[in-house]
Amino acid sequence: MLIIDKELCVGCGICESSCPFGAISVVEGCAVVGDGCTLCGTCVEVCEPGALKIEGLEENASMDLASWSGVWVYGEFRGGTLAPVALELLGIGRRLADTRKVPLSVVLIGSETRDAAEQLIGHGADTVYRIDDPALAHFTDEAYGAIMTALIRQHKPEIVLAGATAIGRSFIPGVATTLGAGLTADCTQLAIREEDGTLLQTRPAFGGNIMATIACPNSRPQMSTVRPKVMAALVFDGERQGDIVDVKPRPEQLATRVRVIESVVSKEDNVNIQEADILVAGGRGLDNAKGFTLMRELADSLGGAVAATRGAVDAGWIGYPHQVGQTGKTVAPKLYIACGISGAVQHVAGMQSAETIVAINRDKDAPIFDVADFGLVGDLFEIVPKLLKAIEERRKS
Ligand SMILES: Cc1cc2nc3c(=O)[nH]c(=O)nc-3n(C[C@H](O)[C@H](O)[C@H](O)COP(=O)(O)OP(=O)(O)OC[C@H]3O[C@@H](n4cnc5c(N)ncnc54)[C@H](O)[C@@H]3O)c2cc1C
Repeated sequence: MLIIDKELCVGCGICESSCPFGAISVVEGCAVVGDGCTLCGTCVEVCEPGALKIEGLEENASMDLASWSGVWVYGEFRGGTLAPVALELLGIGRRLADTRKVPLSVVLIGSETRDAAEQLIGHGADTVYRIDDPALAHFTDEAYGAIMTALIRQHKPEIVLAGATAIGRSFIPGVATTLGAGLTADCTQLAIREEDGTLLQTRPAFGGNIMATIACPNSRPQMSTVRPKVMAALVFDGERQGDIVDVKPRPEQLATRVRVIESVVSKEDNVNIQEADILVAGGRGLDNAKGFTLMRELADSLGGAVAATRGAVDAGWIGYPHQVGQTGKTVAPKLYIACGISGAVQHVAGMQSAETIVAINRDKDAPIFDVADFGLVGDLFEIVPKLLKAIEERRKS
């Protein structure tokens, strides 16, 4: 909460003009804070008389930062296997830990995790805290959150990373809130500021139009979620040595108000566009759900999968698991064929890392051509059948 000391405020208005959110104004010679305040702290920094302060920040400022050390990764384990993002996080985690000259640890929570801990060590972890219990077979926010929070309190890592997956997005914010820590969601880049070891967390902001770098220099741990497929995993090294620490959960940590009756994998959710080497993506230019039949035909002929824009998903032509972009998935296939897609920043944010991008659009000025390696200007309903024919002929010959 932003506190204004009326005795100290001189009504100079510098806070008002510096607030990026227009949330503070001077009324009758004194600053007044409105609803739009995000506690960014800009006004506190510029207030010369020191009339503004953010409640709680002083406690953090007095935090013994040096007593927090080490980089941690949440090793997401679901459906009997490690989520690929856990290994990707070990790639960036290793780099951060080496820069900070601290160990890299993983928290592995689940049931029947078998050789998952050894896999994590082979992919770069120094220590794996393994909490393997039948009561943890199904993910619940309460149990996973309680275990993670208790371990962080006990070992005090300076950095905690988790995947921005359905599970990570569900329980990590609760962990951060309980610890009174900041959390930067959906990071695409992480680095260490050399002067003070602060984690620099970069993520798209303002609809993907800018990249914002966020730092939490006054509190620990520094927590981030990272989108799958953004970081690269290290090559598995079966010779790597590390420690596996088995942690027994306390009964109260396993207590949850949620009872999982059944876990059903939806057919749609099985679509993993993040794993496909070739994606044929359709947008609103397809006109209707039937247009995706053509996309599937092309994807099948190339051995790929079908992706889509939010426009097509919102129209109900295809399910959300196919959506690429800022509010969908980030993909990095070898080949991305964009059909009837305009190339909005929010879509491009999720596919620009594709090795080769081919765009088909009847509007020669469509922004998708700015990121495409090959552009075909014309009607997709004429071009795609021709492509299919050419592929078929090539295959025969
Ligand atoms: C906060 C926020 C988050 C968002 N997140 C996402 C996201 O994750 N993913 C995403 O995709 N979008 C996202 N959007 C929406 C995004 O801004 C665009 O609205 C959306 O990507 C547009 O989808 P589109 O390209 O299918 O449709 P349009 O922009 O309508 O483009 C259709 C294109 O098809 C072309 N076309 C039409 N008919 C034909 C034809 N017969 N042959 C060839 N070309 C044809 C047109 O020339 C046009 O360029 C987000 C928006 C916001 C505000």
